Amino acid sequence: MTVLFWDIDGTLLTTGRAGMFAWNDSVKEVTGQDFDLRTQVRIAGMTDYQIAARTFDVVGVRPEGDLLERMVRRYEELLPASLPLRVGGVLPNVREILERLRSRPDVRSYLLTGNTRGGARAKLAHYNLTEFFPDGAFAEDAGDRSSIARRALELAKRAAPVAEERLFVIGDTPHDIECANAISARTIAVATGGYTLDELQAHQPWRAFAELPPVEDFVALIDGHPRPGPGDPAHSTSA
Ligand SMILES: [Mg+2]
Repeated sequence: MTVLFWDIDGTLLTTGRAGMFAWNDSVKEVTGQDFDLRTQVRIAGMTDYQIAARTFDVVGVRPEGDLLERMVRRYEELLPASLPLRVGGVLPNVREILERLRSRPDVRSYLLTGNTRGGARAKLAHYNLTEFFPDGAFAEDAGDRSSIARRALELAKRAAPVAEERLFVIGDTPHDIECANAISARTIAVATGGYTLDELQAHQPWRAFAELPPVEDFVALIDGHPRPGPGDPAHSTSA
């Protein structure tokens, strides 16, 4: 069984940062403070709970009691109405790859995301990707991305045996690479989110690309017989 763990933001899709409207409004409602996620926190690769904790730091409010949980829940509620406020989209080659893999009984795709389950659901629904991801692992607490990766791996192993060389994390930040390393997975890093190709390569992912490779190349890559060629626009790291 080949298992693919997919990050959402900057990997499957971009929301055009539309989530910030829901976040800022939630912060205002729950803490009474004005906040601008866009300028005040570099969020790429952070989990929603990590962003929430950082937000409380920035606005100078102590997250006592269930305040942090309330802020995250309110963000989830506001997110569906926030997403249409910006033009986002599914990133290059993503839909083609997911459609191809759907016909492969030996390949399973799961979400491995710092989004909460509700946040992930809203984003996938808005961009019509829900059908490709029956399950996944999400941010549930202040734990880092590696703890989410371990839960994703448990989930995959419950369904079928998983060999390390058949385990991939696809993501757009050094946090994705780090969490893949924590579960001995190979990272396919894509510079379609918050980090450049050079920044990603500095963290030594298994492979790194300017964008997700075309479907034939991607399938060859995960099947273990990549097809590098002079016309290949993908910029891969060395083997
Ligand atoms: Mg991401």
